[in-house]
Amino acid sequence: MSSARPVPTLRDLESWSFAGTALAVFGHPIGHSLSPPMHNAALAELARADARFASWEYFRFEVHPDDLPRALELAHARGFHGINLTVPHKVIAVAHVREIDPSARPVGAVNTLLRTAGNWQGFNTDGYGLNAAVQETLGRQLSGAHVILLGAGGAARGAAVECLARRCASLWIANRTRQNLDALLDQLRPFASGIPVHGFAPDAPPPQLPSGALVINATSAGLRPADPLPIDLGMLPAPAAVFDMIYNPARTSLLQQAQSRRIPCSNGLAMLVHQGAKSLEIWSGVPATRTSPAMQIAARAALGA
Ligand code: NDP
Repeated sequence: MSSARPVPTLRDLESWSFAGTALAVFGHPIGHSLSPPMHNAALAELARADARFASWEYFRFEVHPDDLPRALELAHARGFHGINLTVPHKVIAVAHVREIDPSARPVGAVNTLLRTAGNWQGFNTDGYGLNAAVQETLGRQLSGAHVILLGAGGAARGAAVECLARRCASLWIANRTRQNLDALLDQLRPFASGIPVHGFAPDAPPPQLPSGALVINATSAGLRPADPLPIDLGMLPAPAAVFDMIYNPARTSLLQQAQSRRIPCSNGLAMLVHQGAKSLEIWSGVPATRTSPAMQIAARAALGA
């Protein structure tokens, strides 16, 4: 689709004009984002039933982190209705958005901005996406689950906050770098409200780990073929299911190990789709469950799956 065209940049935003309702994603890099095909497929379907969506279009812009404040200002001045933020803007944007939705505050990151009279309102739909994906692909609830979460970066923080908000039974977080793990554990303490939260090194799982846990990979280990496993599933007591947030490649070595051990597992494509559908709900008022099927088809097609 639009990936064949040159990727628009801040310079294009300076002289931007669009007669309809414009949405966009800002990222660095942004060239391979699946959000434009997903959203435009959903908008095309909505337009078939409701003519007001015929003038809606979703664009992408390559925005360097240093340029994010200017890009947000320009997008507002040029009349954009909503913005998605992806790597590396989700945390940086918090300082530049006047109003942060209460649900996004504990995450400390926003991925969805809704135009307000003078600025933007920030939301985070990644937690919704994770919960919906785990339910859809694995038939499991975060609520009441023992969760073993791998990683201590932005995605792990969002996942941890969602697990705690949904009152998981316990949360066990493993990360390669102890310092980053300790920083995350400190940040989570105010939101634990009685739920046991523990940290451990991925190569030394503690004997107290619960069996039947839901394992969630929120590390980037698995994006490249040479990456190590984020954890050896053989060291965990009978995990019930494995969810890997990575969706490209579709089968990481963690998922291959889960399959070979007959542990139900899923990649992160459904999470991407559901967080996108929730963003569109914030902008359009159309329930996410109505647009997610079209987004899923478009995402699969864009990945060549
Ligand atoms: P960050 O850069 O913030 O964090 C990366 C994490 O991965 C850190 O915990 C880091 O550990 C760990 N890590 C990186 N390389 C390795 C390695 N070789 N071995 C072990 N651990 C490693 O990234 P994000 O949190 O933003 O993203 C993490 C992943 O989640 C990405 O793959 C991203 O694509 C995916 N994601 C998927 C989404 C979806 O919708 N499906 C949504 C958001 C993210 P350390 O602290 O030691 O450096």
